[in-house]
Amino acid sequence: MPTAVITFDDVVRSQLDNAVPILQKHSFKATFFVCDWFCDSPIHPLKQGMFRKDLQTLHQLGFELGNHTRDHADPAKLSVEENMAQVSYVEEMFREEGLPAPSVYAYPGGPFAATAAEAVKRLGYRAARTGHPLPLDMEALDLYNLPSYLLCDDRPEGFQSVVAALKEGKSVILTYHGIPDVEHPWCNVSPEHFAQQMQLLADLGCDCPAFSDFVNQLAIHN
Ligand SMILES: [Zn+2]
Repeated sequence: MPTAVITFDDVVRSQLDNAVPILQKHSFKATFFVCDWFCDSPIHPLKQGMFRKDLQTLHQLGFELGNHTRDHADPAKLSVEENMAQVSYVEEMFREEGLPAPSVYAYPGGPFAATAAEAVKRLGYRAARTGHPLPLDMEALDLYNLPSYLLCDDRPEGFQSVVAALKEGKSVILTYHGIPDVEHPWCNVSPEHFAQQMQLLADLGCDCPAFSDFVNQLAIHN
């Protein structure tokens, strides 16, 4: 069965309002990568951001919460220790909210960064997601450098590549931002297109597990 791991970045409120009901309709799991960009955050508030309490809702609905760092700084410009501090901040936030500790990480901005990989390995993370638009290479998997397709309405060929890979039986990771994303139009996906894309995944018979569950499956089979 082809697998598509669905992920969302940057705590955009429209993910909860518009994407979650569509995911629930298909019984798809998903992973939400959290940084401190809530609209009620004292640092870097996102006008279209979720409220911090919305994390509880996502958790209670059965979705996974992953770590996307405190303030989304470029991890390649930070030392291992600075990256650890960025990651630990989100862990502390989860503790305060009574949420399970995150076990997966997504690189802010997308590209792999060696200092961040070392930081999350030291902190016991299972896997980390980058932004390279490739299917997973099961023969040469690096769990701390897993590629993902960044979806955007301006580049429909991105989802076409996803469908082509799934039809070949490959596994993919998808990265979404807001549904829609008003503040970041370069990674905007409209609710209509998101619904069409999820319907296509369903039509292809895709398995859509949470990121950490997918990684656990990989560990069992390797
Ligand atoms: Zn991000």
